[in-house]
Amino acid sequence: MLTQGAGGNTSVKDNGWLWVKASGAWLEHAETKETFVPVPVAIILDGLAIGEDRKAEWTAPSGKVLRSSIETSLHAVLPDRWVFHLHTVSSMLWSAMEGRIADVADRLEGLPWELVRYDRPGLPLTRAIVERLESKPQVLLLENHGLVVSGDSCAEVNELMLETEQRLFLSARQMESADTESLSAVVPERYHSAHYADAHWCATDPAAFEAAIKGIPAPDFAVFLGARLVGVRTGESIESAAATYRREFGIEPAVFLLEGQGAVLRDSVSDNGELLLEALGRMLARLPNGAKLTYLPMPEILGLLDWDAEKYRQSLIE
Ligand SMILES: [Zn+2]
Repeated sequence: MLTQGAGGNTSVKDNGWLWVKASGAWLEHAETKETFVPVPVAIILDGLAIGEDRKAEWTAPSGKVLRSSIETSLHAVLPDRWVFHLHTVSSMLWSAMEGRIADVADRLEGLPWELVRYDRPGLPLTRAIVERLESKPQVLLLENHGLVVSGDSCAEVNELMLETEQRLFLSARQMESADTESLSAVVPERYHSAHYADAHWCATDPAAFEAAIKGIPAPDFAVFLGARLVGVRTGESIESAAATYRREFGIEPAVFLLEGQGAVLRDSVSDNGELLLEALGRMLARLPNGAKLTYLPMPEILGLLDWDAEKYRQSLIE
């Protein structure tokens, strides 16, 4: 519920150095693998002042080269010593729900929090955060993205993070599990049934299916699962759904959601993608009745994927 794969990053500032999670490293492995990169805070802030997104490469004691997270500047601009940035299931859900900000305000009442408008991870998001720092917030809800919690001690930040999570928590609805045996009979070549059970909820539950195929609610879903999740309605063929996606984006889809049956992923999708689809299932199981999600606009998704927006536009015309 707190983190999936390489998503999210934490940091601590010490004597002018920012120790921040390395890009691609998993918080889950932080106690057993080299995970953190030291970066001089002044270098990042000087870069920010001239519009440069500076990151650092560092050779760890083992000889492994680590590169600081793409969200390094976000950690540097926050004045607090400890910073947790997480894509928690609850914060991704609340920050993507349409017109529910009054509910969030009720739930977080009394906490030093601010809402940060959506912008792309990296310098644009960091600038959006800087706009909200006047009230000295310690909890930031990042629209269509996740959560940042900061403070002077690790214990304090941990406690504040858990308090925030508890207040934002919604129980999952009763969801239908996938019949993996009948699903495996229809899985196309070079695809497999989703590894994590909750990922199937995106396809087995009618409301979750409709919400999942409508768009991408937060950046990591695009980064690890592609421009959209391909819904295959009952009676429709997987091949024709795949052909539409290929025409739009020029590649094979990462995910098919087979209506009422379950989720299948392309074999080349990393475990990051499997975990993101599990998180999406858990999010959609908590989407209140009648609530709607907001989605990232397609040009933004193409930007996140570094795909050519003009080629995409052409594909829609042809
Ligand atoms: Zn993030």
